Amino acid sequence: MEQIISRCGNLCSECPWSIYIRKKIAKEDWEDYSKEVKKYLGFKPVKYEWEGCVGCLTPNEELPKDPFYNFLKKCRTRKCGNYNEVNNCAYCGRFPCANTVASNNFTREKISEKIGSIIDDETYEGYIKMFDAMTNLKKIRSSLKDNEIKNPKTISKKTDIIKLKGEFKNKNYRRIYEKLIEIANSNLGIIGIDTISGYEQYLLRKDILWKFIWIFGLYGNIKDKELIIDSITLYENRKPVSLPKNEEEWKLYFDILTQFGIFSELEIKTNKLYTPTGYMRFKVPQTNKPAYIIKMKVNPNLQEPQFFKILNEITSELQITTGKRAFTYFKNLNFHSLLK
Ligand code: SF4
Ligand code: SF4
Repeated sequence: MEQIISRCGNLCSECPWSIYIRKKIAKEDWEDYSKEVKKYLGFKPVKYEWEGCVGCLTPNEELPKDPFYNFLKKCRTRKCGNYNEVNNCAYCGRFPCANTVASNNFTREKISEKIGSIIDDETYEGYIKMFDAMTNLKKIRSSLKDNEIKNPKTISKKTDIIKLKGEFKNKNYRRIYEKLIEIANSNLGIIGIDTISGYEQYLLRKDILWKFIWIFGLYGNIKDKELIIDSITLYENRKPVSLPKNEEEWKLYFDILTQFGIFSELEIKTNKLYTPTGYMRFKVPQTNKPAYIIKMKVNPNLQEPQFFKILNEITSELQITTGKRAFTYFKNLNFHSLLK
């Protein structure tokens, strides 16, 4: 059968979730096959009886109505590849862009390290290669001629910050507002924000970062010049976003805030921080204690007026004045209800 390659470089024609692999593997072998897949990839494929994924090259209007396909509709690499009309990222002038590099999780080396043994060729071909997207893309790229590579169509970042007309009731709010504007005007550390995939990544990062700043401001405990927040409070107020899955991901958000004079550190409270599937716990197992806390400080020049105290006043007042929509107002820096 001809190889079918997804926009991001996965091999749909060999993917355990696909319609294609269901045609290759007999029903009686499915359970054993699924167990092996889980061993190497960490997830068990959807049951054999399910019709199977039709692949990401299928246009949105032809995708079956199953909720499974929501992930495909939201996939930023797929959106970017569709928009730029490239077969897959190997054909793009920006390859390997920050987006493709960031999703390079299923290499022979990484899986070998995870399971603690060397991966032989047969195992690699059968259970890993289909998701070793970067290796697959590099192989395709090396076979392309220059005239087959196409630069992506660039886009501009939109701003949804609403300009304030008037003075704040509390004059201390101005400096915090200006700091928040600085953060909102930045690229939040995204490289390639002028491409569809970069911009989608920026929007996701923005949603998460603003949710955290909101939670820090509204629920953080302020002691002297420091703000402390625990993982249970973060977890309970996080929706609709998810908490970072590991320390590395938290660091990404801390690094963005550091650029603006806000310094954060994680204090881990358990030696069982991670679940077997590699996600950070928010509670110490069998207790109601937080698995970690975050401690934050600001640059001395942000301390006057006291940054966290004023952030708390802003978020609390927004909640009183704008009710259920308070977070949306905060995220858009729409602080009209705080004006004189
Ligand atoms: S789109 Fe993803 S889940 Fe679907 S067949 Fe391709 S690699 Fe598998
Ligand atoms: S910009 Fe990145 S994600 Fe978009 S098509 Fe190019 S390589 Fe793929």
